[in-house]
Amino acid sequence: MSIPTLAYATHSPTSALEPWSLERRQPGPKDVLIDILFCGVCHSDLHQARDEWGGSIFPMVPGHEIVGTVIKVGSEVSKWKVGDTVGVGVFIDSCRECNPCKTGEEQYCENGMTGTYNAMSRDGKSVNYGGYSTQITMDQDYIVSIPEGLALDSAAPLLCAGITTYSPIRHFGVKAGDRVAIVGLGGLGHMGVKFAKALGAHVTILSHSASKKADAEKLGADDFVATSDPVAFKAKKSSFDFILDTVSADHEIEEYLALLALNGTMVLVGLPNPSKVGAFALVGKRRSLAGSMIGGIRETQEMLNFCAEHGISADVEVIPMSYINEAYDRMLKSDVRYRFVIDLASLK
Ligand code: NAP
Ligand code: ZN
Ligand code: ZN
Repeated sequence: MSIPTLAYATHSPTSALEPWSLERRQPGPKDVLIDILFCGVCHSDLHQARDEWGGSIFPMVPGHEIVGTVIKVGSEVSKWKVGDTVGVGVFIDSCRECNPCKTGEEQYCENGMTGTYNAMSRDGKSVNYGGYSTQITMDQDYIVSIPEGLALDSAAPLLCAGITTYSPIRHFGVKAGDRVAIVGLGGLGHMGVKFAKALGAHVTILSHSASKKADAEKLGADDFVATSDPVAFKAKKSSFDFILDTVSADHEIEEYLALLALNGTMVLVGLPNPSKVGAFALVGKRRSLAGSMIGGIRETQEMLNFCAEHGISADVEVIPMSYINEAYDRMLKSDVRYRFVIDLASLK
């Protein structure tokens, strides 16, 4: 018998999210059942709910920044017990056999990771529904532990915004003294600032919202540039070792590449539509342009432990489930400081 679950879903790219119900599977031998406490609201939820990447599956229950409590475990579950506080991120399964899966980079699974929502289950028989819901049944291998000391609401965004910024910052070796720029101060961007600062970098925020200057200082950034100010923008030419671009809307990537110093790297994590990049933007200073997608299970756990150790978590505005449509509208206006997090108690 399946488990009736309350949720919020959208039924088309132009519909609002509204109350819905779905059925979760009973935990199999290697599954756990999680009672969802909090779920962060990622801009990828909005992109997919509005079918901005194409191929969206409706009805859709978004949500891939999930924190909850284990309330039931299958007979062969060894990693988790009832009462554990756990997290679920952007994927819930992968092939487990390819090289990336075996080396803990399941997000780059050669056979495709299985998304937490807006995706089919691995056997192709059912649609996956995300964390805007009261519970979820999960394979024990695709869960992480929320370390003690992290508040659960502000830990939820770490499952996507946190790992998506932590992973490239670590992979590309950002270190003390590096001149780092974070483009876009939203959910991802504000986490990028915190990680780069924790590693000792000199951090500049490039924002199209001049009003975020005071917040930038509070977040620990060393410098703030309003991208609407052409003089201040040009003054940063060839001055950064590493740029993390988190912007969710179309923008000219070449303009930001010009800010990289010799041998600098710019990593795209934001996912708007493509922008043209000419060779001249790169070759003159041996610049690199790269992309990065979330992080694997092992690295996500490492990031959570790093957060607990360094006292890092997201700055959140906790909302009831019923506020989600307003939250999307405000996210589109860059009016979120700096992540909406749904309190699922509001749906129970
Ligand atoms: P968010 O909270 O909405 O932040 C995006 C930021 O982009 C805004 O706060 C704003 O910062 C800037 N921005 C928005 N509209 C802009 C415009 N018209 N011109 C210039 N800047 C603009 O979104 P998020 O959740 O951080 O996600 C950011 C992007 O990353 C999304 O595209 C999302 O899909 C993607 N993403 C990718 C991954 C991955 O694995 N690669 C994972 C998660 C999310 P300012 O106000 O400071 O300018
Ligand atoms: Zn996300
Ligand atoms: Zn794989």
